Amino acid sequence: MAESDKSTLAPADYPPRTYNHSPSSIAALIRVITQASPSISYSINPTDLVPTASTPHSYAPPEQVAKAVFYPSTTEDVSVILKECHTRRVAVTAYSGGTSLPGALANARGGVCVHFGKMDRVLGVGEGGLDVRVQPGVGWVEVNAYLAPKGLFFPVDPAPGAKIGGMIAMSCSGTNAYRYGTMKEWVISITAVLADGTVITTRKRPRKSSAGYDLTHLIIGSEGTLALVTEAVLKITPLPQNLHVGLATFPTLQAGVDTALAILKSGHLLEAIELADKECMQAINHSSLAKQHMAETPTLFVKFAGSKETVDSQIAFVKKTCEENRSTAFEASNSKERVETIWGARKCIGNALVTMKTLPTDHFLSTDAAVPIPAMATLIQETARIIQNQPFSTENWFCANVGHVGDGNVHTAIVCPVEDKEKAEQVLVEVQRLALRLEGTITGEHGVGLKLRGMLVEEVGEEGVGVMRSVKRALDPRGILNPDKVFMLDGEESRGNVKLEKL
Ligand SMILES: Cc1cc2nc3c(=O)[nH]c(=O)nc-3n(C[C@H](O)[C@H](O)[C@H](O)COP(=O)(O)OP(=O)(O)OC[C@H]3O[C@@H](n4cnc5c(N)ncnc54)[C@H](O)[C@@H]3O)c2cc1C
Repeated sequence: MAESDKSTLAPADYPPRTYNHSPSSIAALIRVITQASPSISYSINPTDLVPTASTPHSYAPPEQVAKAVFYPSTTEDVSVILKECHTRRVAVTAYSGGTSLPGALANARGGVCVHFGKMDRVLGVGEGGLDVRVQPGVGWVEVNAYLAPKGLFFPVDPAPGAKIGGMIAMSCSGTNAYRYGTMKEWVISITAVLADGTVITTRKRPRKSSAGYDLTHLIIGSEGTLALVTEAVLKITPLPQNLHVGLATFPTLQAGVDTALAILKSGHLLEAIELADKECMQAINHSSLAKQHMAETPTLFVKFAGSKETVDSQIAFVKKTCEENRSTAFEASNSKERVETIWGARKCIGNALVTMKTLPTDHFLSTDAAVPIPAMATLIQETARIIQNQPFSTENWFCANVGHVGDGNVHTAIVCPVEDKEKAEQVLVEVQRLALRLEGTITGEHGVGLKLRGMLVEEVGEEGVGVMRSVKRALDPRGILNPDKVFMLDGEESRGNVKLEKL
């Protein structure tokens, strides 16, 4: 069968790609783009370029840093940039909040970056107060600061620095996902610019639609490989009333898992259920990011909201369940100070873990496998066994687990010396394979980026990736948008192209 007749596309069948990233090509690109739109600024200063690709959570080597960064102000500016990049065959990686993890920001081919820092506004709450229009460079924290005085709330809560553009691109979630769902459930429509500069708006503002293909959800989770998001309409909801947080400590992680499972099976719908192991709590104290010293023992964090009767009965049930599982302490509070302290401790774990690096060259690696809820205890137990049973010494490693246990998503983090990076990556691959055996996924919310491309094939098969490659070719035939992310476009290694360093 001719290649063009196939439903799926193999790497060998992707049209050959060439990029023109020579200094003269980039200089000409800058000249043409800034002449076309005076509202586009740019930088070629390494102090601006390096942080757009390489971050404390996700390292990129120097050759994977952009050669120029553009700061558009409008959708039209983004269209101007992409049209020129498409014409001139220059690879483009977008940047919103810079908090993504799996090498997603690395400019794999060393092209240019589109930075959404100047498109950072909330454009307004829709009539009726049930949706909000935003630009991609505004963070979920700022959206909520804007909505709170109106009694409204946007529940998707990844890293505190994450912005809407990157959140859509990564299909992220966070501690509220168990109760409210992920980015996939909270985006109504997207305005986006395609590789050749074409601007599309996927829907107007309906709560549901069966009109044609679902372009909104095609873009959510596409990691900047199909289109750049320049505006979005998000669902919003009234702020949870009578918010309480709870904290319980346990002698073992298993006791915390058993408690979480009992809560999940009980039918009580809490606002959030999170579990951190003792190493996470040590990292919190080591980082000094929390407002108080935390007990260094497995800890369950929960949130309650609703009527007084609902919250009272939920707290009573959770307290009793914790005691039945030998909890060593239990607290529930609605005081603003305790809510901020307890939930602040939970939310700082991701940043606290990075402070466990003993040398600046140490690597932070993590995985975020998710499994069906009944398999969660096995995932946690077997992950510990995998790390313990390695034939080499891991005594210079710091390993920790924190789980969005309400939806079966467990983050295993390893901080290790640079020379152990490949061994640590292999350990995390074993954890991902375990999750697949348990009928789960290699990534519940952090995405594939560069790091998990091989594992994506194990999860969805060559056929699944082949469909994704066909979609990519249809929308981005020259492969300029965040090339090499999510899956290999054209078997770059076998074609003798640059071999990407394993991040
Ligand atoms: C401490 C910490 C805690 C975290 N906790 C969570 C968590 O609880 N839940 C969770 O899901 N994730 C979590 N993350 C991961 C991260 O916050 C999410 O992946 C988030 O969605 C990234 O958003 P960002 O704005 O930082 O994206 P960026 O890092 O800027 O970009 C991510 C990807 O999207 C692309 N991109 C950026 N902007 C656009 C755009 N406008 N259009 C198209 N593509 C674009 C980029 O090229 C890149 O490939 C955590 C990370 C850290 C460091």
